[in-house]
Amino acid sequence: MKTLTILGSTGSIGTQALDVVAKRGWRVAALAAHSNAKLLEEQIRQFHPATVALFDETAARDLRDRVRDLDVTVLSGMDGLCTLAQLPKADVVLNAVVGMVGLLPTLQALRAGHDVALANKETLVAGGELVMQTAREHGARLLPVDSEHSAIFQCLQATAKGAWAPPQPSASLGLSRVILTASGGPFFGKTAEELRTVTLEDALRHPNWSMGQKITIDSATMMNKGLELIEAKWLFDVAPENIDIVVHRESIVHSLIEFTDNSVLAQMGVPDMRIPIQFALTWPDRGEPPVRRLDLAEIGKLTFFKPDNEAFPAIELCRRAIEKGGAYPAAVNAANEQANWLFRQGKIPFYAISERVAETLERSFPPISSVDDILAVDEDCRKG
Ligand code: NDP
Ligand code: MG
Repeated sequence: MKTLTILGSTGSIGTQALDVVAKRGWRVAALAAHSNAKLLEEQIRQFHPATVALFDETAARDLRDRVRDLDVTVLSGMDGLCTLAQLPKADVVLNAVVGMVGLLPTLQALRAGHDVALANKETLVAGGELVMQTAREHGARLLPVDSEHSAIFQCLQATAKGAWAPPQPSASLGLSRVILTASGGPFFGKTAEELRTVTLEDALRHPNWSMGQKITIDSATMMNKGLELIEAKWLFDVAPENIDIVVHRESIVHSLIEFTDNSVLAQMGVPDMRIPIQFALTWPDRGEPPVRRLDLAEIGKLTFFKPDNEAFPAIELCRRAIEKGGAYPAAVNAANEQANWLFRQGKIPFYAISERVAETLERSFPPISSVDDILAVDEDCRKG
């Protein structure tokens, strides 16, 4: 029996996590979202958390009205999220909010000693060093939810002597390379020229996964894989030059690890986030199947390609950002969040997203040593 706190409970990951919670009969300590009071009310009535939070103040007032008949505390704003993240009742805090806004609640949960199941990759991209250090200092673990990182995490269980989880050191595990798979998104095979005229509707049509809008656009630009490269560097302590990306259209092999003897281990399964979500929550054990079995004969063949870094420069931009280090990963993340949003508002064309990310790499930033420094870089790089 687990007790969970879920940040981002109304989103794609959050609702799938609650599906797993309902099937397993786990308890919910607290839930949080941005402004979807209607769905959060339904979740409160089904899962009975003692505390909830909505980031948006007006929506929080609306929610207080809606649940007047219930014994539930409704918090709001960033303070509300951070308070909720550190509540003592939870065994695990699942952070499934979208964007850099997840950084402070993640840090708060870790400082309270909670294990954090992390879907919110922007947290690690912007503040990877600080997040890993905070986890180490407080004896808390980071349990990867992102499917590629869950795949690596699952493969590493096979080689670790006993259960292994970040931020434990990975040096003794014999890992020599991480190979992240990428679906290639809806624009696989298109040239840079063809990408100049694609629309928002085209970009939202992901071939294999149904996800929130921000990550769906990140998948179309391949920025998602760039962010995941940085995420993998922090979680598994692998140098960026030892992280490769391979396009795998079928999304059946979720990622691979290579050992010092060039033996390679892969994790496979049907493309359904409930496997990685559940594993992060049951680790080091496994639960009942949350999805159907993989039938390889039905799939027939699996294909692999090199990414086209000319048409999709985002992966190499992220690689350069993590190699430069310091403020650069936070800078590219912020520029991307802003450009991704502007594209969804119809204000900039698709190709301008990568251009805006590239511009941040030409800038100079002072060194960063605290969370305030990271937040300052983030704010600065959202302008323009
Ligand atoms: P969605 O857009 O579907 O959901 C986002 C969730 O975050 C919603 O519950 C939303 O609340 C909440 N939220 C947004 N802003 C805030 C805020 N300021 N304060 C509190 N809550 C907030 O996103 P996804 O579920 O697709 O993605 C969530 C994270 O997981 C992202 O970092 C993504 O990269 C990662 N991820 C997602 C995968 C997927 O399959 N979806 C796969 C791997 C990683 P509201 O509904 O009120 O707006
Ligand atoms: Mg992923």
